[in-house]
Amino acid sequence: MYINGQWLQTANRFAVFNPANGKEVGQVPDGDADDARRAIDAAVAAFPGWAAATAYERSAKLYRAYELMLAKRDDLARLMTAEQGKPLRMALAEVRYAADFLLWFAEEAKRVYGESIPSARADQRFLVRREPVGVVCAITPWNYPVSMITRKVAPALAAGCTIVLKPAESTPLCAMAVFRILEEAGIPAGVANLVTARDPQPVGEVFCTDPRVRKLSFTGSTEVGRALYQSAAGQFKRVSLELGGHAPFIVFDDADPVHAAKGAAAVKFLNTGQACISPNRIFVQRSVAAPFLDTLRKRVEAQRAGDGLDEASTVGPLFSQRALDKVDAQVQDAVALGATLLSGGRRLTDGALQQGFFYAPTLLADVTPEMRIYREETFGPVAPVIVFDTEQQALAMANDTHYGLAAYVYTQNFARAMRMFEGLHFGIVGINDINPTSAAAPFGGMKHSGLGREGAREGLEEYLETKLGGFSI
Ligand code: ADP
Repeated sequence: MYINGQWLQTANRFAVFNPANGKEVGQVPDGDADDARRAIDAAVAAFPGWAAATAYERSAKLYRAYELMLAKRDDLARLMTAEQGKPLRMALAEVRYAADFLLWFAEEAKRVYGESIPSARADQRFLVRREPVGVVCAITPWNYPVSMITRKVAPALAAGCTIVLKPAESTPLCAMAVFRILEEAGIPAGVANLVTARDPQPVGEVFCTDPRVRKLSFTGSTEVGRALYQSAAGQFKRVSLELGGHAPFIVFDDADPVHAAKGAAAVKFLNTGQACISPNRIFVQRSVAAPFLDTLRKRVEAQRAGDGLDEASTVGPLFSQRALDKVDAQVQDAVALGATLLSGGRRLTDGALQQGFFYAPTLLADVTPEMRIYREETFGPVAPVIVFDTEQQALAMANDTHYGLAAYVYTQNFARAMRMFEGLHFGIVGINDINPTSAAAPFGGMKHSGLGREGAREGLEEYLETKLGGFSI
């Protein structure tokens, strides 16, 4: 743990395992509620100094962290592959994405502008100033174990907030590596603190209820997000939530079905489907369903599951036995209710795969609304396909979910693209684009997918308060 500029040990430690082979990767301190309070003490003490530092000073340190992260990207990516399982190439891409947040917010730190507002009274002047919200607590997930940290820490620090972060219990080593970079970049003691814990609940409880904490930022499941939101309400804390998704991927008959199928496969199997923006319901218009499914099936069969350090692997393991069981239960439920299994549909246990949590890349056709997979987030390498007839029907089915994070549309018809962009109740819409994300673009969901946005100018707003001054002269 990293509290007040010190790396601390605890009597209790817990082990972290490689999901590709079950081997221990390392051990980390098992923090508790007292450690969380100590970290908040440090963040409270460091806040006045950090808030008073100039934006240029804060920016320079974030920029230094950006440079250090890029310099260490190979080591960080290897650690991520060992701890989280994703193929090394994907881990490297994530480190670059993570570094982008440090760079973006190093730049944005200098653009926290206020405003002067005309008054109806001749003797009055209105001045609006933006201030850091104060001490922030953050909880991050295991699926993007480096970029989800910088996406919170960088804007918090840019705004002048201090922070205490608890990473996911299955990827604390990546979090420690990020905090070593922050330390080396010269972020002062107490400004950024890390509490690792095997049991997230007691630490989360302190984050939500300690009155000194002014904001909570969480990325994870909708269920945990709801519980944290309720708990944080007692102190009226500012809350940012980036929760689950159930992305529709809609292919119209005016699009090239082969191109669309290649896109669907690329984004579906990214991170073994363990992404909140992963397509979870693939809608294809009837007249192009056959060529679309044909290409998608070839792409699914071309996937190679394996250890992420092996260059031939395109998909890694799932992160736990629980994840494996959930994915398999959804597939079995769909098949029992009449879905057609075109590929996969089972755990992979050949040779070395036996030691890890591998599930075969899977393609399901004839999926219907009665099936669990139509309603529930999968978080695994399963592509469920549903055929539709009209644009209205596709839009209605796409919006028929509590979730509202990402959606994808393939069409060559401009007016239809615009109708879909406007009609989809999702925070992120990719039109013929499978990667509508960037540190410069606002990321976040509607409905049960969360509150607030990360990245972009909006990402900094989440960490700022507005103060109005009325001056009579
Ligand atoms: P997933 O189901 O994908 O693992 P979670 O929402 O359980 O997603 O985990 C995301 C983050 O939330 C992790 O850092 C985890 O430790 C944390 N978390 C899980 N349960 C709680 C809880 N009751 N209180 C606080 N944090 C929690």
